[in-house]
Amino acid sequence: MKLAIVDLSHGDIRISKVNEKDERELIGGKGIATKLLMGIPAKIDPFSPENAIIFAVGPVNSYRMSGASRMTAVFKSPLTNGYGESQCGGFAPHEMALSDVTLLMITGTSEKPVYLVVENGDVEIKPADFLWGLDAFETESMLRKDEGGEVLAIGQAGENLVRFACITHRKGRQFGRAGGGAVLGSKKVKAVVFKGNGKSDESSEFEEFLREKVISKLSALQKYGTPNIMWIVNKSKSLPSYYWERSEFDIESIDGERMLKYFVKRNSCFGCRVACGRISKAGDVEVEGPEFETLYSFGSLLGNADLESIIKANNLADRYGIDTISAGNVIGFAIVLSKSGKLKEKIKFGDGDKYVELIRKIAFREGIGDLLAEGVMRLEKMTGAEGVHVNGLEPPAYDPRGIFGMALAYSTSPRGACHMRSCAYRPNLAGKLDRFSAEGQASLVKELEDFYAVVDSLVYCRFLALPDIGMGWEDVARLIEIATGRKYSLDQLRKIGERIHRMAWEFNRREGIGYGKLPAKFFNYGLRIEDWEKMIDEYMKLRE
Ligand code: SF4
Repeated sequence: MKLAIVDLSHGDIRISKVNEKDERELIGGKGIATKLLMGIPAKIDPFSPENAIIFAVGPVNSYRMSGASRMTAVFKSPLTNGYGESQCGGFAPHEMALSDVTLLMITGTSEKPVYLVVENGDVEIKPADFLWGLDAFETESMLRKDEGGEVLAIGQAGENLVRFACITHRKGRQFGRAGGGAVLGSKKVKAVVFKGNGKSDESSEFEEFLREKVISKLSALQKYGTPNIMWIVNKSKSLPSYYWERSEFDIESIDGERMLKYFVKRNSCFGCRVACGRISKAGDVEVEGPEFETLYSFGSLLGNADLESIIKANNLADRYGIDTISAGNVIGFAIVLSKSGKLKEKIKFGDGDKYVELIRKIAFREGIGDLLAEGVMRLEKMTGAEGVHVNGLEPPAYDPRGIFGMALAYSTSPRGACHMRSCAYRPNLAGKLDRFSAEGQASLVKELEDFYAVVDSLVYCRFLALPDIGMGWEDVARLIEIATGRKYSLDQLRKIGERIHRMAWEFNRREGIGYGKLPAKFFNYGLRIEDWEKMIDEYMKLRE
């Protein structure tokens, strides 16, 4: 594995080999990237040159295989001031794996806009004045024409340091959460281009296993994309709506079936037979999605049943480079503030066209958009009202009042209210344990956090790595052996997952961040504070 460290303040590029011990003990991807992040000074401003953003692939990403074109990015988050992490699919991960650079660490700040080209085990810094001010789609189109390869780009939101700006790839895949786009913007990096000249690896044996044992069980994901889960979440009264006032919504006009009306074609990451992406079109606006999380954040959460406005807002968010989950939540909070007179701007539930306009204002920090661009935690401090976030990250579409395991998961995820570090909603919704009980949630969340810390170090897609119906620990061990020749016992892998998870928390602790407190709203029905206390006590004992 090769590491490239780019110091933009001095124009330095250092290339080195990752030591064998780290490869063995941290696997790759998230594991090694998190160790590198620990090297930045504590308590720095996330927008200072000392912050770093590390893009990383792992041992499986050079494979032409379903679920294998994924990559990770870690950084200090400008939204939470803690551990920032995000994953992205598409074609760039595979391209990076073939570029002979496994980890790209970007530090320092450039005086002028630049983009980076990663190729043949090296990195080149190139001027990007001609790209600054363009949206992420325009930037990607220009660079694909000029450079070829696969492009990660920020839009105007990243340039304007919107704290939840994302990094866009292939006009619809994102490093969505925690503000990685703003970190790139603060460094004046408009884009990163990966050119992979190596040869893809193949494993017909593992692909066959995936096709027969895993993908065959994902037919709903293949037909509807991620919105396939909306019916289950809503039926279980766990779909946040009207800014966390309710837990269900009249979803008929925004669900997967309705989306078929706007369906253009399926879309896939490199080499993946699942092809969970959907391209939708409303009028002349085309978008990859909307994903389930966006149907929630621009839909149910805002009391908005107008699917066309969701598609339009989604398209703008992707172009400008804005995380839709945080954006929907901050707009929802603004509606509550507007109602109570704490904000002068008139914003109400169910006003889809207004949200489309607000996305643009956020990206350009125009008027009210300048406030909203700061995210819920800072807006809370400015107004004295209580919003909904955990450790600074706005929550996704799983209401913990109907899925108790998610109350714990939001507290213990190193990046704040996150559904991906443990995916605890899956076994809860599948009835593997009682979702209205604290019983068994602590060991479930811990086990899954450790499992996904390894999966994110491979780096592999969690839609296929599903211990209940898809890949479990044994299959992950088999995949690592195929890719590296190294054999791990399940116990060794569990310990590695635990080590990586602990390291991410170590980063938070030195920033003064502990397990997240939940907003009072989460306890106004269903979930009781004693349920959460029981889960967190049990969990802390397991982590001792
Ligand atoms: S399941 Fe979907 S997100 Fe995962 S690799 Fe395949 S196409 Fe990409």
